[in-house]
Amino acid sequence: MRCSPVPTLLIAACFVVLSAHTRDLQTGTSQVTVPPMPAMESIEPPDGWKSTGHVVPPMPATLLRLPRTNITRAKFPAVDVHVHAGGLNTPQAYQKFITLMDSVGLGAVVNLNGSTGAKLDAVLKAGEPYKDRIATFITFSADGINEPGWSARFAAEMERAFKAGALGMKVAKGLGLGATNPDGTYIQPDDPRLDAVWAMAAKYDRPVMIHTSDSIGRFYPIGPKNERFDAGLWHVPGDARENYYNNGFPSHEVIEKAREKMHRKHPKTRFVNAHLAMLYYDPEKLAKFLDTYANADVEISATVQDLGRAPRLWREFIIKYEDRVLMGSDGSPDRGAHDFWTPHWRYLETYDEYFEHPAQIRTLGGSPGHGRWNISGVGLPDSVLRKVYYENALRHLPSLRDSITKQLAGR
Ligand SMILES: [Zn+2]
Repeated sequence: MRCSPVPTLLIAACFVVLSAHTRDLQTGTSQVTVPPMPAMESIEPPDGWKSTGHVVPPMPATLLRLPRTNITRAKFPAVDVHVHAGGLNTPQAYQKFITLMDSVGLGAVVNLNGSTGAKLDAVLKAGEPYKDRIATFITFSADGINEPGWSARFAAEMERAFKAGALGMKVAKGLGLGATNPDGTYIQPDDPRLDAVWAMAAKYDRPVMIHTSDSIGRFYPIGPKNERFDAGLWHVPGDARENYYNNGFPSHEVIEKAREKMHRKHPKTRFVNAHLAMLYYDPEKLAKFLDTYANADVEISATVQDLGRAPRLWREFIIKYEDRVLMGSDGSPDRGAHDFWTPHWRYLETYDEYFEHPAQIRTLGGSPGHGRWNISGVGLPDSVLRKVYYENALRHLPSLRDSITKQLAGR
């Protein structure tokens, strides 16, 4: 198979013919290869190396004079499907958040922290007048999963939540990397006890926002060669809990396989895979995942720092999968408008180059903890932007359509 020599087009033209380990592509003028991931051991720190504790080198200020698009609001009312707003249970809190949403151009958000039981009821009650802007999801909990009858009990709670107004369910990475069986092994998303849970979401046609696996850097050894460590993660001794290397955790491949099996077993359940299914590190793998599972969509939260390092490739990717990619931020009501949401708009809407990514976590010195680097934008065409900002989300959340239509008309 001959492919275009232009690397960006390789995505469209060649993904199908690439197998995981034979990645040599014969092109018209040159050979393009995708190198394998570095071996785990190759990231090990040198013998005798010690962490410097809190000290992380500051992010250097760029001395380049580069054009910046003047951007403060999203071009279209964006639906941010990945927001954590745990404390949202008074009218004042809702109004304050909506003021922030208006200022950055968010048409609607999904609060994934609806919780369960009485807490969920309180959130839904307080949120009732604002439900055209802020949707609530029930939050999955594996508490008690090893007790008999758990599956039916949790599925019944989901049903109750959906009837009370929860528009979907959030599942956090604790499924795969947190909840354990009595023998200490980690419960994976294809566990049969979860079948009734995914089936209940399908019965009510409610999306499951599922975060499985984690940033790839967390599966590699801690040390100066790990780019997430370089950015500031796990610097403090004793703060290695969320690094999974040699810590008894399953590998990312184990979790990825279990997630695939879950999608395969439940074709009628709509899964929105958070953080680009954590496959931002391997676009070929992500393409294959989307091609294989029609019930898998993805959202971009907490991956912009990585996508923005390969803007031409990801531009082609998002355009090719324009119906499968949703906007998400992993933000919360206390995020700064213009150091958090604006960089998302800049990334998606403009061709600006080498700007600060939306830093979710910062080190004590102010460096962006996900990556000590800058990013460039993908400048999506309006037709694709509309899909990423709201059309794809509205397919999963049809009750927000009137609100978005009204906001579009008012712009
Ligand atoms: Zn999140």
